[in-house]
Amino acid sequence: MFEYHAPDNLLENKIILVTGAGDGIGRAAALSYAAHGATVILVGKTIEKLDKVYDEIEAAGGPKPAILPLNLETATEHDLIDITNTLDKEFGHIDGLLHNASVLGIRTPIESYDPVTWQQVMQVNINTPFLLTQTLMPLLHRSENASIIFTSSSVGRKGRAYWGAYSVSKFATEGLMQVLADEVENTANIRANCINPGATRTKMRAYAYPGEQPETNPEPGEIMPLYLYLMGKDSQDINGQSLDAQ
Ligand code: NDP
Repeated sequence: MFEYHAPDNLLENKIILVTGAGDGIGRAAALSYAAHGATVILVGKTIEKLDKVYDEIEAAGGPKPAILPLNLETATEHDLIDITNTLDKEFGHIDGLLHNASVLGIRTPIESYDPVTWQQVMQVNINTPFLLTQTLMPLLHRSENASIIFTSSSVGRKGRAYWGAYSVSKFATEGLMQVLADEVENTANIRANCINPGATRTKMRAYAYPGEQPETNPEPGEIMPLYLYLMGKDSQDINGQSLDAQ
């Protein structure tokens, strides 16, 4: 496990957007960022799940979060500009962007991979995250010290049979991060990195590995040290890296 002990006030006064904040690793990141002082913008598809996370943050005494429902599969450029304008009016800037939401698609050989599913996976996992990053850049530039985190996977570093569009989308995620990181290298205030969470006890993991005992993998809350490290000031010189949470 990545070792880092975050001070309680690590993210005080920070505004951090988390995609897929209603479940799994994104939910744990939203709770953890709020517990360390951040105002978290909860972005996701299922509003009831976002509401629950909102209530959990409030019950724990964290800063009042915001909810922005967004389906990454169907969102248009116009929707993302609307979201950016809302955030601009409300906060004026953002300090953190965690691209976490993803879908697995199907596990099947390339030869028979359903093209419609291919497009859906690429839309959720890479195309919309690209557009969201692009529209949010002006708000990130206004931060004193902004961190953009993309979520990768081991199959985004080495291709594996039958992982199809998911694997390819994670290679593209690593590529997007590297290109962006190189572009912001000389801007003192923005950095971009990837996290590979490693096997983690979530719905996606259970779906990908139905034969596995869930207890063999850590819970999302246990892999948060790297998520905190890369979002906080202790990593301000880290840019263009792909790091393992476990
Ligand atoms: P989960 O399936 O548990 O959670 C995925 C999250 O993404 C949910 O909040 C889901 O929202 C959201 N989401 C899915 N589709 C959309 C969409 N169209 N629009 C908006 N939000 C959407 O996955 P994990 O927590 O396991 O995965 C988190 C990240 O970690 C992913 O990027 C995944 O690829 C990566 N990862 C996970 C590993 C693991 O072992 N768990 C290993 C390696 C990488 P909703 O519930 O509303 O559908």
